[in-house]
Amino acid sequence: MSGEGLTPPRIISAPSPNHDGPRPRTIGCVLHSTRGGAPTVEQEFHATLAWFADPRSQVSAHAVIAADGTLAQVVDPDLIAWHCRAKNASYLGVELVQPRLGDPITDAQYQTLAWWLMQMARRYGFPLTVETLPEHWETPEGKADGKTDIQPPFDRMKLLKLCAGA
Ligand SMILES: [Zn+2]
Repeated sequence: MSGEGLTPPRIISAPSPNHDGPRPRTIGCVLHSTRGGAPTVEQEFHATLAWFADPRSQVSAHAVIAADGTLAQVVDPDLIAWHCRAKNASYLGVELVQPRLGDPITDAQYQTLAWWLMQMARRYGFPLTVETLPEHWETPEGKADGKTDIQPPFDRMKLLKLCAGA
């Protein structure tokens, strides 16, 4: 696991009130995409941050990654975000901006996601593997909720290769 060649992204702060206290342990990260259906990826990014900032939504993630690779920090990584029900207590959650199923994931998004996951893996001591990085739709919680994110064209192996510096 290296990832030393990854460039830190532009980072903005977009705090959400939708979280609980400290996570007792961290064993991985659930990978999500936004699927808000906005006309443009820029509108989708801002609509997602507004939704997460609204206490009525009761949802959040630790980070949201825009199509241009900008990373929005939404919930402190030490705290429990509200993204995947029972998984929240032991998994981080990250959202890639992707308005609709099948929309492209940009290279800038892969780069930022790999950079952020490397930081989190070091900080909490979990490996970056297929098993520790479930897509939302693969989890029992996501299946129960009818979630379809992320699915192709998202390519988790491409992400893992970036993390490994391949
Ligand atoms: Zn999701």
